[in-house]
Amino acid sequence: MTRPRFNRILLKLSGEALMGQGQQSIDPDAVAGLAGEIAAAKAHGHELCLVVGGGNIFRGVAAAAKGFDRASADYMGMLATVMNALALQNALEKAGVDTRVQSAIPMASVSEPYIRRRALRHIEKGRIVLFAAGTGNPYFTTDTAAALRAAEMGCDALFKGTSVDGVYTADPKIDKSAKRYDHLSYTKVLGDDLKVMDAAAVALCRDNNIPIVIFNIREPGNLAKVLAGGGVATIVQNEEKA
Ligand code: UDP
Repeated sequence: MTRPRFNRILLKLSGEALMGQGQQSIDPDAVAGLAGEIAAAKAHGHELCLVVGGGNIFRGVAAAAKGFDRASADYMGMLATVMNALALQNALEKAGVDTRVQSAIPMASVSEPYIRRRALRHIEKGRIVLFAAGTGNPYFTTDTAAALRAAEMGCDALFKGTSVDGVYTADPKIDKSAKRYDHLSYTKVLGDDLKVMDAAAVALCRDNNIPIVIFNIREPGNLAKVLAGGGVATIVQNEEKA
């Protein structure tokens, strides 16, 4: 089965994508590499918007496990995503792409507040909008924020960039016999608790009929390839299509 060419997509990057190979939370070379991939995809005529996580800097659940108040820790996590969004914005602008950052937690000096209609207008004008601060609510993740913004922006798909080229029957780094799925249904992902995105994000995509495309963002040129319907990826969608 072939994959369609997607026109408007939301790209979800985890905070770890900004780390590169080293220990630096935000590695300028890694960020520049990501920006290059995104700029190349944009040059092929796709409309993109972005949600970036904050796990390279701070994760609410992990901090709560060590005794932090969960809601406060989650707000810290959301602030971490703002730093990441600003780093990516900087690199994208250097790569010649016009961008706007919109934060779900209003922060007038560093970004626009999230306003759905204004974000849509930016996209129509060819800008890349980076959505920061997740959903603006504790107890959520940036995966759910990505599904939410993908629905609000009328995206054809949610692209999740990872360090593997799709979803496997087992962890391919540990089990060499693991097989990659080309297509999966939302029901299988949720029923088998496959680690694609968190369950709230998958359910939101299912309810709004938004395919989830899992692909390797670290492989040069891959984003543009997968966007065009080629490359290697796993697509999660409705039963009859999967
Ligand atoms: N977060 C939150 N609400 C949201 C999105 C994120 O509270 O809507 C917090 C949460 O603490 C989370 C952190 O921000 O752990 C960083 O986001 P996430 O863990 O999703 O980042 P990623 O794993 O994608 O790097």
